[in-house]
Amino acid sequence: MINWNSVKIVATAGPASASYKTLRAMIYNGLDIVRINFSHGKYEEYKKIIALVRKIEKELGRPIGILADMPGPKLRVKGIEEPISVKPGSVLVIKRNQPRLPGEISIAYPVILKVLKPGDKISVSDGKFIIKVFKKTKDSVTCRVLDGAGEIKKGAGLNFPEVDLPIPSVTPEDYKHISFACANGVDFIGLSFIKEAEDLKKVRAYLKKIKAKPFLIAKIERRAALANLKNIVLSTDGVMVARGDLGVEMPIEKVNLLQKDIIKMCNTHGKPVITATQMLESMIENPFPTRAEVSDVANAIFDGTDAIMLSGETAVGKYPLQAVEMMYKIAKNVEPKLDRSKNVAYLEDDDISDIISKNVVRIAEVYGVKNILVPTESGKTARMVSRYRPNAKIIALATTETVLRQLILPFGVYPCRIGKHTNSSVIFKLVDEFIKKSGLFKKGDKLIIAAGTLEKKGSASNFIKIVTVA
Ligand code: PEP
Repeated sequence: MINWNSVKIVATAGPASASYKTLRAMIYNGLDIVRINFSHGKYEEYKKIIALVRKIEKELGRPIGILADMPGPKLRVKGIEEPISVKPGSVLVIKRNQPRLPGEISIAYPVILKVLKPGDKISVSDGKFIIKVFKKTKDSVTCRVLDGAGEIKKGAGLNFPEVDLPIPSVTPEDYKHISFACANGVDFIGLSFIKEAEDLKKVRAYLKKIKAKPFLIAKIERRAALANLKNIVLSTDGVMVARGDLGVEMPIEKVNLLQKDIIKMCNTHGKPVITATQMLESMIENPFPTRAEVSDVANAIFDGTDAIMLSGETAVGKYPLQAVEMMYKIAKNVEPKLDRSKNVAYLEDDDISDIISKNVVRIAEVYGVKNILVPTESGKTARMVSRYRPNAKIIALATTETVLRQLILPFGVYPCRIGKHTNSSVIFKLVDEFIKKSGLFKKGDKLIIAAGTLEKKGSASNFIKIVTVA
């Protein structure tokens, strides 16, 4: 059972969807990657979701990815049990120690109090409230509410867009979660609030130590990450346009343009990108989205995104299955109208894999070939071919479960499994067997095969073959 949409769907599992019945229905109706948000929940719950996904994957015979999304250094309101009611002009005190008086809160990293200064603005609860520091002592900062009225609750997010925070982008908690996630076989790790390529290097060094190879997704949601975008894109495996926090850290009216810039940078360098947050937000409460939300999903696809993501809609919403079905329908309608060449950018310093991939797509267009077969060990050739956005399907033939599932993410790639190969004659034999046994092709179909023949370990793509199914 292959999902033949080119754009992939990621959906967050949560109380609304973490049952066998709902997850199965969502996967059956187009869900490709299940996201687990490590900011909420417990290890036993994550384990249960992972086991369910693997069971359903086996039953449906289609690989399903699991994305473990790390909390990162997200700061949250701590130290209160009861919500605090505020309105413009109210005073809120952030304390180093446990709050004792009404109107006082604490935070996870009190070291931040050191760098805050009068005049700094803080966004509370994903931008619902803006507060401004007006007084500072050794143990507290006192703020006044500038904008927003309502309740500030324990766990509400705090963003400090104007402040360079003295805390690591990947926290000790994140490393603990990464270990757990890798030990339990997740395929993708989302890194929240990273600032620079160095953050990814540190995570890779850690992964080497624990001998794990998840696909790293750099979430772009901070001003500093935007400033270092190119280096982050070059260092990461994939990217997420995390519009929730991005819209708090940056003026919200810039989010759409930033989305386009980030997607373009990813398309240029062949890094799969997920567009996330509030895509069908109103479906948390209603069985149908707004026209504007449908348009937002469609526009992200026109921008060149590889995947579209659901968060609250499937984690806590009333209509998780309908949200997945709606995304699937929007993508199915948009894709035939997509001018794929608009999402291709050519690099000046392309390497041999690039040249092979570019020409594979050109040959497919000229000869009207509908299927490109890519036996791939690391997944690189398949991702490179995806970068040139062919109209043909890219059928990636992966030799390991890890690469098989990681290839679910790139646009237009449909991963299948073949056996291990070590040289060109074995590759040709395995591909031949796949063509005969998969049931995907009929006599007379023209196929292109592109790969690296692995004469040397890790060597680049080095051949293109055109065959007609006998
Ligand atoms: C976001 O901020 O848009 C996002 C995807 O991250 P999270 O849901 O973890 O806040």
